[in-house]
Amino acid sequence: MPSPYPDEVIGSVILRSCRHSGISYKRQIEGLRGPKKTYCSFLLPNNLIVIAKVINTPPEHLLWKHTMFPYIVSYMNWAQILHFQNKVLYSDGNRECLSPLSKSVTHGTPFRRYCSSCVKEDIDRYGETYWRRTHLLPGSHICLKHNTLLMDTPIRLRGQSASNAAMPGDLVGSDYRTSISMGVLTTIAHLNQTAQNFHCAEPYEFRFEALRAGYRRADGNVAGRQVAFDLYTTYTEDFLAETGCRFTLNQRDPWPALLARNCQKGTLSPAKHILLAAFLNTQNIVKNGTIYNKKGKRIHDYLRDDLTLLNMLKNQVRRRSESGYRITVMELIKETGYWSQFRHNRKAYPKTCEFISVFRHSNLSERQIGRRPYWRVRLGLDKR
Ligand SMILES: [Zn+2]
Repeated sequence: MPSPYPDEVIGSVILRSCRHSGISYKRQIEGLRGPKKTYCSFLLPNNLIVIAKVINTPPEHLLWKHTMFPYIVSYMNWAQILHFQNKVLYSDGNRECLSPLSKSVTHGTPFRRYCSSCVKEDIDRYGETYWRRTHLLPGSHICLKHNTLLMDTPIRLRGQSASNAAMPGDLVGSDYRTSISMGVLTTIAHLNQTAQNFHCAEPYEFRFEALRAGYRRADGNVAGRQVAFDLYTTYTEDFLAETGCRFTLNQRDPWPALLARNCQKGTLSPAKHILLAAFLNTQNIVKNGTIYNKKGKRIHDYLRDDLTLLNMLKNQVRRRSESGYRITVMELIKETGYWSQFRHNRKAYPKTCEFISVFRHSNLSERQIGRRPYWRVRLGLDKR
C-alpha cells in the first residue's frame, strides 16, 4: 500500500495501490477485508485497523486525516464523536455497516470532483494524481488553493463506484454550471474546509446570526419561514437537491426555519448547518452590498399562504378520496393548521375559497350542498 498524500481520501489510496501493484480491486479488498468481501467504502471503511497496519500508520490518524469522519461528526458533541470513533475503529469490521454514518456525504455529493490546477501540480510533483477529501464534500465546487471551479466527473460517490479505478488525471471532466454566486460558493468551501479540519465544537449561533441579518419578527423571535424562503431562492432547487438538503416551501417547519431557531442542532446533516451558515454570512453579498435589514412586523404574505393552503387541501382531498370518508370544510382546514388564520380573513385566500366551493359539491363533503341534509346524517338516516 502506498502512503496517503495530503488530504487524500482512503478510497483513492486503495485504488492507487491496485494501479501500482497490478492486483485487481476485488483481490485487494479481499486481502484487506477477508474472503467473500468485495466492497470497501470509498469515504469511510470499517476495516481501518487492518488498512492502518498495512500502511504503517496509527488508525486514528487515518480516520481523522484520510476519511470523511471529521466532516461527518463536525456538528456532534464529544460524547457522540467518541461513540462513533469506537464504532468505526473497534467494532467487528465484517459485520458493522457504516453507510448510515457516511450518508451525510454520499447523499450530498452525487459525483467525484477534481481541480484541474491541482491535477497539473500533482503530476509535476508526484507523477500521479489522486482524489482529495475537501473536493468531495457536499456543496464544494471551489478549489480554495487555486480559487477555481472544480470539474464534475460521471463517477458516482455512492455504492459500487468505489471500485472505479479512474484517477483525476485520466478524466476529462465537465464544467459545473450554476446561477449561485462565486461569493456564496467560496463561503461554502471555506466552511466545509473548517468542518473537515477543525471540530466545530463551538455551536454556530444560528439564532443570533439570523436576527443580526434582520430576520426578526415583531415578537422578537426569528422569522424562520422568511429565512427558509430566501435561502430557497438563493440556492435554487437543483443545488438543494444535489447537496441532500431538499425541502419545500409548503412544509410546516422546513429545516432552515428549525435551524435558524436553534432547533435540532446536531441532529441535522453537516451540509444543512453549512448551507445555512453560508447563507446568513453572505446575505450582504447576495443582496449586492445592501445588508438585508427588515424591521418591525413582517408583512404577511397571503399570496404564498393561499397557495400553500390550497396545495395542502388538494393533497388531503386526494388522500381522503381513497378512504371515501366524508369530512366538513372546517375539519379539513383544521387538519392543515391554517383554520384560525383562514376563518378571520377568508377574502385573503381567493384560490382556497374557490377550491372549497367546488369541494362542497363533492361526495367527500359532509354537508353536501343541495343533497344530503346534514340532520339526516346526524339522525343516522343517511350513511356517512
Ligand atoms: Zn486546485
